[in-house]
Amino acid sequence: YFKPNTPMKDHLQTKDWGLGLKGHVIIAGPCSAETPEQIEKVCLDMKKENMIPDIFRAGIWKPRTRPGSFEGIGEEGLTWMEIVRNHLNIPITTEVGNAAHVELALKHKVDVLWIGARTTVNPFAVQEIADALRGVDIPVMVKNPMNPDLQLWIGALERLHDVGIHKLAAIHRGFSDSYDKRFRNKPNWSMPIHLKREWKGMEVINDPSHIVGNREGLLETAQRAINFGLDGLMIETHHDPDNAWSDAKQQVTPAQLKQLLSQIDFKDTLG
Ligand code: PEP
Ligand code: MN
Repeated sequence: YFKPNTPMKDHLQTKDWGLGLKGHVIIAGPCSAETPEQIEKVCLDMKKENMIPDIFRAGIWKPRTRPGSFEGIGEEGLTWMEIVRNHLNIPITTEVGNAAHVELALKHKVDVLWIGARTTVNPFAVQEIADALRGVDIPVMVKNPMNPDLQLWIGALERLHDVGIHKLAAIHRGFSDSYDKRFRNKPNWSMPIHLKREWKGMEVINDPSHIVGNREGLLETAQRAINFGLDGLMIETHHDPDNAWSDAKQQVTPAQLKQLLSQIDFKDTLG
């Protein structure tokens, strides 16, 4: 008969992965890299506010659900990441969706890669990315698939683990439901919690920006993530959110990010 879950593999029981950062990881930066001036302005505002994240994020290739909006600046944007290195001296991360993206990201020395929700659903695409990373020592973060399928999420992490990527983390960005009015992507908290139970030691970073879809709800969702024992936050940050080329409604300024983080109780975890 059909067994729904594959047996636990050894790597699900011992911890030999993670981003290697201490405490709650804070990842911030714009949804998309737009211009060199935009990247510089975000960095300068982060510096001015003394709000330097652990990792700077910026999407270079943007997987849009429907065509007709900004699809990302492409390779040119990777050269602007030098600006981030010069001003903030922190690692940078971007999304990769295929082997060509991986090749370009590695060529431009991106420090950390992430796989987006629309890619995690597709084992062919994830395997293509994993094959392009065989023998490469780089941390990779895997966003949950669009649909609440824990096995698909674990499967993507396994494909990377199987090619030798052990600096792995997961990102909880919520699950799509066109009819839900409250969330842009429903949090479905049992998913990240069960991932952490099934793959012991797996770091799960919460992305309240894509869960909530607006600025107002970020604090409540981010606090809940910390209370549930998640390991960090990825929050979209832009110097001029209202005029961002993508996800304008949910991005915050570095000053707002600092205020938001100061309101979160990072100690109040349920274990
Ligand atoms: C993003 O991080 O900007 C993004 C496109 O994310 P997701 O894959 O979660 O939709
Ligand atoms: Mn976004």
